[in-house]
Amino acid sequence: MDSHRQVVDRLRSAFCSGMTVPEQFRLTQLSSLLSMMEENEQLILDSLHKDLGKPKFEAIISEVDIVFNELHYAIANLRSWMQPQHVDTNLATKLDGCFVRRQPLGVVLIIAPWNYPLQLVLLPMIGAIAAGNCVVIKPSEVSAATESLVAELIPKYMCQDCYAVVRGGADETKALLENRFDHIFYTGSSVVARSILQAASIHLTPVTLELGGKCPCLIYGRVNVTAAARRLVWAKFFNAGQSCVAPDYVLCSQDTLSALLPALREALKDFYGEDPYTCPDLARIVSHQHWTRLVELLGKSTGKVVVGGDSNQDDKYIAPTVVVDVEESDALMKTEIFGPILPIMTVDSLEKGIDFINQREKPLALYVFSDESPVVNTVLENSSSGGFCANDGIVHMTLPGLPFGGVGASGWGSYHGIWGFETFSHRRACLLRGWAMERFNVLRYPPYRDDNLSWLRWTTSVKSHCRLM
Ligand code: NAD
Repeated sequence: MDSHRQVVDRLRSAFCSGMTVPEQFRLTQLSSLLSMMEENEQLILDSLHKDLGKPKFEAIISEVDIVFNELHYAIANLRSWMQPQHVDTNLATKLDGCFVRRQPLGVVLIIAPWNYPLQLVLLPMIGAIAAGNCVVIKPSEVSAATESLVAELIPKYMCQDCYAVVRGGADETKALLENRFDHIFYTGSSVVARSILQAASIHLTPVTLELGGKCPCLIYGRVNVTAAARRLVWAKFFNAGQSCVAPDYVLCSQDTLSALLPALREALKDFYGEDPYTCPDLARIVSHQHWTRLVELLGKSTGKVVVGGDSNQDDKYIAPTVVVDVEESDALMKTEIFGPILPIMTVDSLEKGIDFINQREKPLALYVFSDESPVVNTVLENSSSGGFCANDGIVHMTLPGLPFGGVGASGWGSYHGIWGFETFSHRRACLLRGWAMERFNVLRYPPYRDDNLSWLRWTTSVKSHCRLM
């Protein structure tokens, strides 16, 4: 087996050869990835089921189709993304070619977590390939079946000189990070993100961080409680709550809570039956360690469990659980839950709800449920989050046209669609000039003269340019 160094060296020499730059090469590789997905769908579903008990339905929409969509979108748009982008000129640069040219960064590293173990490896990879880079991917060792499938399939379908998979956990990743990369794209927890940043600082490598945190769901004013409960339950318990954009907690008034609780019970019964343990549509917790963390977290809560609460260690099962009477100081409010436990806190007013959110780290997603558009707009205008979705959960991240990423503590940078292409591209500022008009350059050459300065300021000013247009 090649050492990390050998892998990175192999990819770097492929990158330096220029082979990844032509549009045709990028398209061929994206098409190979498409074939990989088409020809191995069952193996993919099996491995996701093994890792997380992922129901086929959830696996198809959140891991398979999202990758297909991203691939089709990139293939359809690559040519236009690659075009130089001409920019406004001023009088002094009127005859020049002034444009932004997207260039690949080089050899990039993608480090992924376990909760969507295929999607979170392949979606960034599509952006990186489209942008013309060589790519090392490091799937999560926690989702071992998918890690092993990715390691088997990528070399079969993709050019081995340009793309490689490195397997392993924290130690292997740390060793890998000793190598110089041209970009590191990390998805995972904010704790590990700090050590990624430290490693990146040695080589001054730019980093994209796709992190997590607590995504609030603020329910306020008139609201269709039945629909709100169904959408909330779906978004929260999809993948057993192990989604970075899952609603982490609910904020609502006492009146809303009284109406919401029966609707939540009803939605849970409709979706997962009387006994969710026997329901094939509910995923499992990824590992015993993660199961223990969640059960202990629930145990520490001083809130009241009103739905669920039961669990089964052997099967890594935790019932969809709703907890009320939750205080700000509750254990469930101190950390990202990342599991099927939904705490609900009451607030007296919309302003207090917004303040509560704004006093915490900026979330990856913020959800507001309300029939009243002034409520939705007030939250939108007075808060900040990576993404925002009104009257539903998670769905905003399925559109390749929308950038996906955090802000502040929930992450730096974004991807999906053109945003992924941009993340893995350098925007090179280009000005191409000929030899004509040399006599106008006396305006800027020494010996400096005040009258030349006035002319120069006029020809280079944005204001005079706008007036001339
Ligand atoms: P994690 O940080 O434990 O692991 C992520 C990756 O980092 C894995 O590949 C792992 O092998 C590697 N790793 C672990 N420890 C390391 C170390 N010390 N040094 C170097 N590499 C190390 O994250 P996780 O538990 O797999 O993921 C859960 C977190 O990820 C949650 O906070 C969730 O919100 C977040 N997340 C964010 C997004 C997003 O798109 N923003 C998506 C999914 C998950």
